[in-house]
Amino acid sequence: MNTHALRFEHYVNGRFIADTAATIEVRNPADETVLGQVPDGDVALAEQAIAAARAAQDGWAARPAIERGQFLHRMATGIRNNAEPLARTIVLEQGKLLPLAQMEVGVTAEYLDYMAEWARRIEGEVITSDRPGENIFLFHRPLGVTVGILPWNFPLFMVARKVAPALVTGNTAVIKPSEETPYSACAFARIAAEAELPAGVLNIICGRGRTLGAALVGNPAVDMVSFTGSSAAGSAIMANAARNTTKVSLELGGKAPSIVLADANLDQVAGILRASKALNSGQACNCTERLYVERSVCEALAEKLANAFNSVSVGNPLGATPVEMGPLINRTAVDRIQSLVDDARQQGADVLAGGSGSAAGQGYYFAPTVVSGTKPGMKILEREVFGPVVMIDPVDSLEEAIALANANEYGLTSSIFTNNLTSAMRAINQLKYGEVYVNRENFEAIQGHHAGVRRSGIGGDDGKHGLYEYMHTQVAYIQS
Ligand code: NAD
Repeated sequence: MNTHALRFEHYVNGRFIADTAATIEVRNPADETVLGQVPDGDVALAEQAIAAARAAQDGWAARPAIERGQFLHRMATGIRNNAEPLARTIVLEQGKLLPLAQMEVGVTAEYLDYMAEWARRIEGEVITSDRPGENIFLFHRPLGVTVGILPWNFPLFMVARKVAPALVTGNTAVIKPSEETPYSACAFARIAAEAELPAGVLNIICGRGRTLGAALVGNPAVDMVSFTGSSAAGSAIMANAARNTTKVSLELGGKAPSIVLADANLDQVAGILRASKALNSGQACNCTERLYVERSVCEALAEKLANAFNSVSVGNPLGATPVEMGPLINRTAVDRIQSLVDDARQQGADVLAGGSGSAAGQGYYFAPTVVSGTKPGMKILEREVFGPVVMIDPVDSLEEAIALANANEYGLTSSIFTNNLTSAMRAINQLKYGEVYVNRENFEAIQGHHAGVRRSGIGGDDGKHGLYEYMHTQVAYIQS
C-alpha cells in the first residue's frame, strides 16, 4: 500500500480529492519540524460528504449485516498489513512512543474485527401484547448518516471506534479527524478504499473544528454526531446539534481520581502511575490526575512517586536514544500545563518532581510532575490537565476519599487501590463515575462501555452498549 503517509487528501464518495489551498500546518511535536500543510475544509465540502453518505446509506443498509461486517474484516487486514508505516505516521504526527503506536494499530484492527462480529448478533424482541391476537415486534434500525469528530490522542484508533459500529449497523459515516493529526485518518481512508468499501459509505475530510466541524454538526441531514474531545467543544457541539434535534454521543474530558488505601502495595501503585503517565505523556482521558491516599502511607507513596517520575527518560520517540516518554501535542498544551502548575505553586502547593516544560524550539515536552498540598479551588485540582501531572494528597478515611473524588464536575474514570474487597465494593458503589478500576487503571476494554457522566459526556463507545447507540428502535404492532 502507498499510504502517502504525510499527504492529506479528502476522501469523499470513494474518491480522493487534493485540496490545493491547504492552510493548516501540521508539526512533529517531538522537534517542531513542519510535517506538511493540510486543508481547512469548508461548508461546501461538508455538504458534499454528507450528500455522498446520504446517497449511499439505503443501499448499504439493505446489504445483509454479515456482508457489511466482511468489509470491516478486510479493513482490519489492511491495517495489519500496513502496521509499520501506520505506527510511524502516528508517532510523527502525535508524538507517542513507537511501541504504543504499534499497540494502537493492533487495537484498531481488533476493534474493526470485534464490531464486525456483531453482524450476526444484533437481536430484536418479541413483546407480549395486551390485545388478543396481536404481536409486538421491536427492531433495531440504523440511524442513517453519522458524523464522527475525533481528538488527536489516538488518531488511528479513534477512526475505527467511530466507523466500525456505525457501518456494521447499516449507517454511513463522515469522519473529521483532529487538525493536529490528520495523516493517520487519511491512511485509514486509503485502506478503506483498498478494501473496496462502496463509494460514499465512509468519507474522511479535514478541517478545523469551528469551521468544518461546526458545518458537519449543524447540517440537518445528519442523524447522529459521535464526538470525542474536550468538554467545552462537546457543549458547543451539543448546542449546535440541538438546532436540528440531532442525536449526540459525547465522550469528553476527565479528571480521574485514584484512591489508595493503606493496605495497597505502594511500589505497585507508583509503578502503575509511572507507566500510565509516561504512556502517552499523560494524554489519555482515563489517566489518574488526583490521588487521595490514606494519611499513614501518603508521605511514603509521595516519595516513591517522586522518585519514579524523576527517573522517566523524556525525549524524541524516534531519536537515537531510547526514551520512556515523548512530547505533548503542541506548545499550547505545554503553556497551559505550565500555568496550572505555576498557579498551584503560587498558592502554596509543593512540586515534588518535575514542574516545568521545554523552551520554544525544543519540542513540546513537559517533565513528569508530582504536586502535593493542593487546596479546594485551585485550578489544577478542578480543571483537566491532560498531561504527565499527578496531585497527591492525604485523607483520613475511605469516606473522605470518595467525597473528594466525587467533588468534581467530571465523571469519566476512577480507581481504587486496596486488597480489601469490602472497601473496593464500597468505592464502586459510591464513586459517581462511568468507570471504576480496582488495582489498575488504563485501558478500557473494547467489549466494555466507555462512557462518562456529568461533564464527561452523554452516551458512550465500545461493546454492546456503544454499538446500540448507532441504532434506533422501531416497534411494529401486528393485529391478526
Ligand atoms: P478538542 O475538543 O479540542 O477537539 C476535538 C475535535 O473536535 C477536533 O477534531 C476539533 O477540530 C473538533 N472541534 C472543536 N470544536 C468544535 C466545534 N465547535 N464543532 C465541531 N467540532 C469541533 O479536543 P482535543 O484537544 O483534540 O482532545 C483532547 C480532549 O479529548 C481532552 O479533553 C480529553 O479528555 C478528551 N478525550 C476524551 C476521551 C473519552 O473517551 N472520553 C478520549 C480521548 C480524549
